[in-house]
Amino acid sequence: MAAERAGSGGGRSRKVAKKRDHDFVTGTSYAPAPESSAQVKIAKSYDLFIGGKWVKGSKRMKTINPATEKVLSEVAVAGPKEVDLAVKAARKAYNNVWKKMPGRERGKYLFRVARLLQERAREFAVLESMDGGKPIRESRDVDLPLVAAHFFYHAGWADKLDYAFPGRKPQSLGVAGQVIPWNFPLLMAAWKLAPALACGNTVVLKPAETTPLTALLLAQVFEEAGLPDGVVNIVTGAGATGQALVEHPGVDKIAFTGSTGVGKMIQRALAKSGKKHTLELGGKAAHLIFDDAPINQAVEGIVNGIFFNQGHVCCAGSRLLVQEGVADLVIRKLKRRMETLVVGDPLDKNTDVGAINSKEQLGRIKGLVAAGEKEGACSWQSGQRLPGKGYWFKPTIFTDCAQSHRVVQEEIFGPVLAIQTFRTPEEGIEKANNTPYGLSGGVWTDKGSKIFKVTSAMRAGVLWANTYNKFDPTSPFGGYKESGVGREGGLHGLAAYLEI
Ligand code: NAD
Repeated sequence: MAAERAGSGGGRSRKVAKKRDHDFVTGTSYAPAPESSAQVKIAKSYDLFIGGKWVKGSKRMKTINPATEKVLSEVAVAGPKEVDLAVKAARKAYNNVWKKMPGRERGKYLFRVARLLQERAREFAVLESMDGGKPIRESRDVDLPLVAAHFFYHAGWADKLDYAFPGRKPQSLGVAGQVIPWNFPLLMAAWKLAPALACGNTVVLKPAETTPLTALLLAQVFEEAGLPDGVVNIVTGAGATGQALVEHPGVDKIAFTGSTGVGKMIQRALAKSGKKHTLELGGKAAHLIFDDAPINQAVEGIVNGIFFNQGHVCCAGSRLLVQEGVADLVIRKLKRRMETLVVGDPLDKNTDVGAINSKEQLGRIKGLVAAGEKEGACSWQSGQRLPGKGYWFKPTIFTDCAQSHRVVQEEIFGPVLAIQTFRTPEEGIEKANNTPYGLSGGVWTDKGSKIFKVTSAMRAGVLWANTYNKFDPTSPFGGYKESGVGREGGLHGLAAYLEI
């Protein structure tokens, strides 16, 4: 079926876009409201944070602002030698200090870190948006509050682990190697560091190669909080650095968040190693909208779930299954809402859809969208004009999708939604479950009984009803099937860092 594109020919969207003439043109006409980056001091280069000192790496790599393609800084690349140094520093800190420290003292450090993060939240949020391309509204209103909440929550557990698991004597594991992705750089660091430290482990953390800066700023917060040397070590670099950490014999536990492909490689590398591991991997979440759903609320939930933050969310609602009777209405309202999305400058407080994180990721999104068109699904894009520099992709939907289409089965990790219809709850559930993933999903209906029936049949680790993308440190998060192994957050997340 021929692709229908409002972006290149849609009259309404072009008229809306013409109202703006500054660099970042958007879908609606708000005056620009950019957040100042004056308080963010980015150094020309950064070293590795090992044993409480800043250590040179074997090479250097550039990190850029994906909205402007300007180089922000150069960071060190840790080779096997530096990874070894970091693991040894973590072991020393574990044996000499952290393992022996009473939980209430460990908790004090975590409380201090949480408070410092709150004090410096604006600086962190701006840096996150500059390095990763995500809208400031998200880094300021979602990421940073959750980052602080994770440290506060786990600080509270540090001296209560015996009560968390009554009748057991929970013991720390030792050195944790943690490898994280670029979509929530600081939040993923907090998800991993806070429980590991609260449980008495020391850590070597490897941030993603495209977003290392907030983790390095976090190292400065650890210094400011007086955290003993070597308790947290931060090694920057790409896949080879992560691999060296995963394979290091001095590491007791691996916590990985990233793609299913790399997760499978890590699982193979860890087989027979005896290392504990948790893997938080990709997803292909489905929203199920029933004909009795609050439609406007559901449309807003879908937009939030896939277009805000450019679809760079593991639990992004990248599939929409809508009951046949309301399908036309939902798609019409969805298109209208898509036209009003503000696409552009991540530092502008009006922005809904920021920059794609990297050129490589943009290439992956374009490749999968082209595959969807080739396989016969019908694509439609909203009409915003995109900035000339940087990496951008317009909010896109596919209709007339078959279950076998790649846009239905594969994680795109961009602002692209595949839409299908269903007649009965059973058909909807079957379609929702029919992918290799099982991370998350959403159900939209007026009936509580239907929510219980449908969510208990959906094979996904996290399910929301009449809302979407809500997180809390007390609640476990993780997937079924190829979406991962283990849980993070809540008691389940604590257990993953303990021998109980
Ligand atoms: P990725 O797998 O390419 O990279 C993740 C991290 O692994 C990076 O730090 C990378 O440098 C490192 N890495 C790459 N190759 C490695 C190797 N061989 N050994 C060890 N480490 C290696 O993923 P990405 O593109 O950065 O992130 C996007 C993916 O992350 C998506 O699939 C998304 O769904 C997933 N994700 C999952 C969750 C979750 O909680 N389930 C959360 C966020 C992101």
